[in-house]
Amino acid sequence: MRLPLFLALTAIAYLFAIVVRYYWVDWASQFPDFFWNDQLMINTNDGYFWAEGARDILAGHHQPHDLSPVDAPISRLTAFLAGVLPARFETVILWMPAFFGSLLVVPIMLIARELRQETAGFIAALLGGIVWSYYNRTMTGYYDTDMLTIVLPAFVLWGLVHAMLHRRNRWLLLLALLMLLYQWWYPSAAPLNTAFAGVVLFYTLLFERRELYNYKLLAFMLLTVTPFDSWIRLVLVFLLFLYFHLAKERADKTVLPILGGVAALFVVMGGLEPVWLQIKGYLLRESVTDNTIRLHFYAVSKTVREAGQIPFELFANRISGSPITFILSVAGYLMLAWRYRVMWLALPMLGLGFLAMQGGLRFTVYAVPVCALGLGYLVVWISRRIAEFVPKKEATRGMYYASLLLFTLAALYPNIRHVIDYKVPVVMVKPEVEVLDRLGKIASREDYVLSWWDYGYPIRYYSDVKTLVDGGKHSGDVNFPVSFALTRPQTASANMARLDVEYTERAYQKDRNGSYLQMMMEDYGYKDPARFLAALNSPDFKLPKKSREVYYYLPLRMLDIFPTVALFSDIDLATGQENPRPFMYVSRGYRNSADKLELGSGIVLDKTRGLILLGKKAIPLKSFVTATLLKDGRIEVKEQNLRPDARLYLIFMKSYRRFLLIDASVYRSTFIQLFVLGRYDPNLFEPVIVSPMAMVYRLKK
Ligand code: MG
Repeated sequence: MRLPLFLALTAIAYLFAIVVRYYWVDWASQFPDFFWNDQLMINTNDGYFWAEGARDILAGHHQPHDLSPVDAPISRLTAFLAGVLPARFETVILWMPAFFGSLLVVPIMLIARELRQETAGFIAALLGGIVWSYYNRTMTGYYDTDMLTIVLPAFVLWGLVHAMLHRRNRWLLLLALLMLLYQWWYPSAAPLNTAFAGVVLFYTLLFERRELYNYKLLAFMLLTVTPFDSWIRLVLVFLLFLYFHLAKERADKTVLPILGGVAALFVVMGGLEPVWLQIKGYLLRESVTDNTIRLHFYAVSKTVREAGQIPFELFANRISGSPITFILSVAGYLMLAWRYRVMWLALPMLGLGFLAMQGGLRFTVYAVPVCALGLGYLVVWISRRIAEFVPKKEATRGMYYASLLLFTLAALYPNIRHVIDYKVPVVMVKPEVEVLDRLGKIASREDYVLSWWDYGYPIRYYSDVKTLVDGGKHSGDVNFPVSFALTRPQTASANMARLDVEYTERAYQKDRNGSYLQMMMEDYGYKDPARFLAALNSPDFKLPKKSREVYYYLPLRMLDIFPTVALFSDIDLATGQENPRPFMYVSRGYRNSADKLELGSGIVLDKTRGLILLGKKAIPLKSFVTATLLKDGRIEVKEQNLRPDARLYLIFMKSYRRFLLIDASVYRSTFIQLFVLGRYDPNLFEPVIVSPMAMVYRLKK
């Protein structure tokens, strides 16, 4: 294929991927609450982390230990783009995933060109750029490192194919640079790069044992994955290239010794360790984490849905859009690998994608470009066969193109359908961001905001404060104190919040091992965690010196995840035994009649007797509470006591038209007391921002 046509097809595939990614923007734009600063907000939580880093790079400052990722490549790239482009920061982060993620079409086209299969490449590029799981992780607003984590290894694969087919020293350098770039962007890239080196070794031993170039190639590849600092690897790669370049044929004798040396260096430096860690991390999942002082915390992996086995259909959908296209893609790949041996080198990406069957959804994307190439190849192959059957010579071409078009559309269809159905909301809605924005003007950058980890990154981005837990820091031990503070009564909550903040800061200053909770117990001289936690109920508990303000950020949406929040502190720290779950039911809608109130899920309030009917069971109510958020920010609470010995409370959140059916422990929790009822202890808390979507309280201790 002539170069101009090739470039035109690449550009068309790229534009197609971007146009498809406009669909979400068009859909989301109908909701005014999805906008902040006149721009749509992003739809991935982690994005706020990188955005915080980019914001701080542009500002030129950030606070010690605020966890802002100012060194992260994505934050640097974002800051750079926001600096040079005439677009607003929010626009840059919204569109970066679309523009960078769609670049996947380029390595797909390049690989196809190496095989002189550009038509197949074009079909693969159209498909690969927007396929189900790839779309999910590179859609507009999905601002995360994902935007290049498939593009870069696809370029590595191209570099590999190109080097193997052309065998020039300069392509060794190009491949090494691509591999280093991939690892710079994505620190967990080393295992895949190592697997690429492994498949090259395998391939060489099998087919090209006498090909000296392949051993050179291996030496370069191993050098890029040897765990030195990136710049050392970069220098070594250049030196090695210079050596081969200058010594020319004379260097041939030294290829094997050099490879041996590099391999030894690789193993000695622990180059195989990340591979083991990766495998261990995803295949073995521990239920309870154990610490030195033997505190048993709740393992966060228990609540993460992603790390589980997935059914075949979902797996196939995510890789190719449907089970049929998936099977055809794999068949196409096998045909491709049969005809072009060099395509064996794609096995690591395909294999990593297949690991999704065991290790969780996140891996499926890796198989996308390889399967797309397989399908493209198969479509071209079938179309040729069909065209051959046409008796009239002049109709052959027409038949060929008609068949290409038909099969391509059929392959695209389920994926386009998915794009249309995949309507994800933004992470934060405007009324919440307004609260965080105001909080940012009240709080100083050194102050802490206590909230659940789901909101950590957005809080830091919009309020420019510190947080205790976030999307990256949320293991059982750091979640425990936060969970405790949100789910326990106010005195214990206030004490724990102050302790957790001061100990979080102290842990950065001092070199101490163990969880914050262990440090607290050591300093206060407790051996039994239960006794330590009980001591926090005392208003006279002696707290460390206050070094900064602490704010509680309590959003409405935390109601829905409150049982999960509670899990992390409803555990016996000494044994790891989980306590009985607290009871909590949040009704979405309800139906009211003269003698009963239906709350959904088969839960009915018998109004005349004051009983909750659950199937055949009748449970007495302790009290019925109506909470109304008034215009002046106060919450008016009306309480109707029914039976003093009962344990269940029914709360009508009048302003939200929601009912809460909760047990006494949930009722007493700081979250319910502060957010739902506005009953704060004025010695401990002070309301700072009251809004229906989120409230902020300042800790007075
Ligand atoms: Mg900061």
